[in-house]
Amino acid sequence: MSDCLFCKLIEGAIPSQQVYSDDKVLVFKDIKPKAAVHLLLIPRKHIASLVEVTPEDDELMAYMLRLLPTLARQQGLDTGFRTVINTGPGGGQIVYHLHFHLLGGPDLGD
Ligand code: 5GP
Ligand code: ZN
Repeated sequence: MSDCLFCKLIEGAIPSQQVYSDDKVLVFKDIKPKAAVHLLLIPRKHIASLVEVTPEDDELMAYMLRLLPTLARQQGLDTGFRTVINTGPGGGQIVYHLHFHLLGGPDLGD
């Protein structure tokens, strides 16, 4: 089994509060939410970070980007939302399986 936290989550070895799942991606609630809505969107394929994305992943990346507004709408974020991708140690990345943070709600701040 992979020693990647989010791969374990995909395999079901670690529980998560899933919001959406299909053959390409998984969406679940962040364990330490920084806003009223704080979801993590991850590809089922293990990609360590944005730096490791290759042209082979273009379709997957487009799919994930286009899923964000749908997820936001489902969460009731009618006025907008924030998307964050932390990359590498300098970018504050902690979990090395690519993930898009989807944040929204009244406490979002600047
Ligand atoms: P990063 O800094 O790598 O972009 O953020 C990793 C995110 O994963 C953090 O917001 C953290 O709260 C979240 N996280 C870490 N471990 C777990 C976990 O086991 N389950 C869930 N649902 N989220 C996690
Ligand atoms: Zn992984």
